[in-house]
Amino acid sequence: MRSIFWDIDVMRKLGTFDIPFTGLQIGTHHYQYNIDKTFFDNFEFSEISKSDINIDLDLEKQSSLMILHFSINGEVEVMCDTCGDDFMLPVSFKDRIIVKFGNEEIDQSDEIWVIPHHEHQINVAELIYEFVHLALPVRRVHSEGECNEEVISNLNKLESHPIEQSDPRWDKLKKIKKDLK
Ligand SMILES: [Zn+2]
Repeated sequence: MRSIFWDIDVMRKLGTFDIPFTGLQIGTHHYQYNIDKTFFDNFEFSEISKSDINIDLDLEKQSSLMILHFSINGEVEVMCDTCGDDFMLPVSFKDRIIVKFGNEEIDQSDEIWVIPHHEHQINVAELIYEFVHLALPVRRVHSEGECNEEVISNLNKLESHPIEQSDPRWDKLKKIKKDLK
């Protein structure tokens, strides 16, 4: 089930993401947003700080439902899994969601967003937030050859010369062995 937690304060601040749909003609309507750090600051658990992302939204209004086509393109600052430096990772993601009227408890799913019959507008901020996070790959690494060279050469040194482990129990045994000779 889609976890839409409508935080009223957040949604008020993100009013630019409101789409009043009652007056819209049947057909496709285009919306464009650019989001950066200030957008993600509204969400308590966001792992994104720096970003520059364009969102193209095509809202396809039909007589009884709406289909929202999201296209997300831009870059997000993440930490490299290999060298630990922050870098801007390009992201590109497409997804769609169907908005329909009905009973949220029964019909809601990952692909369907159910809104009450009396509703006259939707706010897409939270969807955008979710999609950007979905766009982030699990493994985040610099492009070939762009890692922090110093960190990489230190890592290589560690691999070829593992630090000799000293274990106090073995040290004691070694001493006993020596004393026995
Ligand atoms: Zn790296």
